Amino acid sequence: MSQCLFCQISRGEIPAKIVKQTDQAVAFHDLNPQAPVHILVVPTTHMNSIADTRSPEGSDALLATVNLAVDIARDLGLDAAGYRLVTNVGENGGQSVLHLHLHLLGGRRLGWPPG
Ligand code: 5GP
Ligand code: ZN
Repeated sequence: MSQCLFCQISRGEIPAKIVKQTDQAVAFHDLNPQAPVHILVVPTTHMNSIADTRSPEGSDALLATVNLAVDIARDLGLDAAGYRLVTNVGENGGQSVLHLHLHLLGGRRLGWPPG
Protein backbone atom coordinates (compact mmCIF):
# COMPACT_ATOMS: atom_id res chain seq x y z
CA MET A 1 0.00 0.00 0.00
CA SER A 2 2.44 2.62 -1.25
CA GLN A 3 0.14 5.61 -0.60
CA CYS A 4 -1.04 4.50 2.86
CA LEU A 5 -0.06 7.07 5.52
CA PHE A 6 1.02 4.56 8.17
CA CYS A 7 2.87 2.40 5.60
CA GLN A 8 4.77 5.53 4.60
CA ILE A 9 5.55 6.35 8.26
CA SER A 10 6.69 2.71 8.78
CA ARG A 11 9.06 3.03 5.83
CA GLY A 12 10.39 6.37 7.08
CA GLU A 13 9.04 8.23 4.05
CA ILE A 14 6.86 10.53 6.18
CA PRO A 15 8.36 11.85 9.41
CA ALA A 16 6.95 10.87 12.79
CA LYS A 17 8.24 10.92 16.34
CA ILE A 18 9.22 7.26 16.61
CA VAL A 19 9.06 5.79 20.12
CA LYS A 20 10.24 2.22 19.50
CA GLN A 21 10.24 -0.29 16.66
CA THR A 22 10.80 -3.92 15.82
CA ASP A 23 10.89 -5.77 12.50
CA GLN A 24 7.13 -6.25 12.72
CA ALA A 25 5.76 -3.11 14.37
CA VAL A 26 6.51 0.55 14.87
CA ALA A 27 5.28 3.03 17.50
CA PHE A 28 5.12 6.80 17.12
CA HIS A 29 3.47 9.74 18.84
CA ASP A 30 -0.01 10.67 17.66
CA LEU A 31 -0.06 14.01 15.84
CA ASN A 32 -3.13 15.11 17.81
CA PRO A 33 -2.69 13.63 21.31
CA GLN A 34 -5.79 13.02 23.42
CA ALA A 35 -3.89 12.24 26.63
CA PRO A 36 -0.43 12.98 28.12
CA VAL A 37 0.68 9.70 26.51
CA HIS A 38 -0.90 9.00 23.12
CA ILE A 39 1.15 6.66 20.97
CA LEU A 40 0.08 4.78 17.85
CA VAL A 41 1.42 1.26 17.40
CA VAL A 42 1.12 -0.23 13.92
CA PRO A 43 2.23 -3.39 12.12
CA THR A 44 4.84 -2.69 9.44
CA THR A 45 2.85 -4.88 7.05
CA HIS A 46 -0.31 -3.27 5.74
CA MET A 47 -3.65 -4.53 7.00
CA ASN A 48 -6.77 -2.41 7.07
CA SER A 49 -7.89 -3.14 10.62
CA ILE A 50 -8.01 -5.78 13.34
CA ALA A 51 -10.76 -7.40 11.27
CA ASP A 52 -8.04 -8.46 8.79
CA THR A 53 -5.75 -10.37 11.15
CA ARG A 54 -7.12 -13.91 11.03
CA SER A 55 -4.40 -15.37 8.78
CA PRO A 56 -1.29 -16.82 10.48
CA GLU A 57 0.73 -13.83 9.18
CA GLY A 58 -1.93 -11.38 10.36
CA SER A 59 -2.17 -13.00 13.78
CA ASP A 60 1.61 -12.90 14.14
CA ALA A 61 1.73 -9.21 13.18
CA LEU A 62 -1.14 -8.38 15.55
CA LEU A 63 0.58 -10.11 18.46
CA ALA A 64 3.85 -8.32 17.68
CA THR A 65 1.96 -5.02 17.63
CA VAL A 66 0.24 -5.70 20.96
CA ASN A 67 3.54 -6.81 22.50
CA LEU A 68 5.27 -3.62 21.37
CA ALA A 69 2.47 -1.51 22.88
CA VAL A 70 2.64 -3.38 26.20
CA ASP A 71 6.46 -3.07 26.28
CA ILE A 72 6.21 0.70 25.72
CA ALA A 73 3.58 1.06 28.44
CA ARG A 74 5.95 -0.71 30.81
CA ASP A 75 8.94 1.37 29.62
CA LEU A 76 6.98 4.55 30.31
CA GLY A 77 5.94 3.40 33.78
CA LEU A 78 2.24 3.32 32.97
CA ASP A 79 1.66 -0.13 34.51
CA ALA A 80 0.91 0.99 38.05
CA ALA A 81 -1.66 3.66 37.25
CA GLY A 82 -3.00 1.86 34.18
CA TYR A 83 -3.58 2.77 30.59
CA ARG A 84 -5.82 2.00 27.62
CA LEU A 85 -5.11 0.13 24.38
CA VAL A 86 -7.82 0.68 21.81
CA THR A 87 -8.28 0.04 18.12
CA ASN A 88 -11.04 1.58 16.05
CA VAL A 89 -12.68 -0.29 13.18
CA GLY A 90 -14.60 1.32 10.37
CA GLU A 91 -16.82 4.35 10.27
CA ASN A 92 -18.90 3.72 13.40
CA GLY A 93 -15.74 2.80 15.29
CA GLY A 94 -14.21 6.16 14.38
CA GLN A 95 -11.37 4.77 12.26
CA SER A 96 -9.90 7.54 10.10
CA VAL A 97 -6.69 5.85 8.90
CA LEU A 98 -7.19 2.52 7.13
CA HIS A 99 -4.08 0.77 8.47
CA LEU A 100 -4.42 -1.22 11.70
CA HIS A 101 -3.25 0.83 14.68
CA LEU A 102 -3.47 0.55 18.44
CA HIS A 103 -3.89 3.75 20.43
CA LEU A 104 -1.84 3.58 23.63
CA LEU A 105 -3.38 6.18 25.94
CA GLY A 106 -2.23 7.01 29.44
CA GLY A 107 -1.07 9.62 31.89
CA ARG A 108 -4.54 10.66 33.05
CA ARG A 109 -7.79 9.04 34.20
CA LEU A 110 -9.65 8.10 31.02
CA GLY A 111 -13.40 8.31 30.78
CA TRP A 112 -15.64 5.30 30.14
CA PRO A 113 -17.74 4.66 28.16
CA PRO A 114 -16.12 6.49 25.24
CA GLY A 115 -18.30 8.88 23.31
P1 5GP B 1 -8.22 6.55 14.08
O1 5GP B 1 -9.16 7.72 14.10
O2 5GP B 1 -8.08 5.99 12.69
O3 5GP B 1 -8.48 5.51 15.11
O4 5GP B 1 -6.80 7.15 14.49
C1 5GP B 1 -5.96 7.79 13.60
C2 5GP B 1 -5.00 8.60 14.42
O5 5GP B 1 -3.94 9.01 13.57
C3 5GP B 1 -5.61 9.89 14.99
O6 5GP B 1 -5.50 9.87 16.40
C4 5GP B 1 -4.78 11.00 14.36
O7 5GP B 1 -4.53 12.05 15.26
C5 5GP B 1 -3.52 10.29 13.94
N1 5GP B 1 -2.86 10.84 12.77
C6 5GP B 1 -3.44 11.22 11.60
N2 5GP B 1 -2.51 11.63 10.72
C7 5GP B 1 -1.30 11.50 11.36
C8 5GP B 1 0.05 11.76 10.96
O8 5GP B 1 0.33 12.19 9.84
N3 5GP B 1 1.01 11.52 11.87
C9 5GP B 1 0.74 11.04 13.13
N4 5GP B 1 1.77 10.84 13.95
N5 5GP B 1 -0.52 10.77 13.54
C10 5GP B 1 -1.53 11.00 12.65
ZN1 ZN C 1 -0.68 0.77 5.35
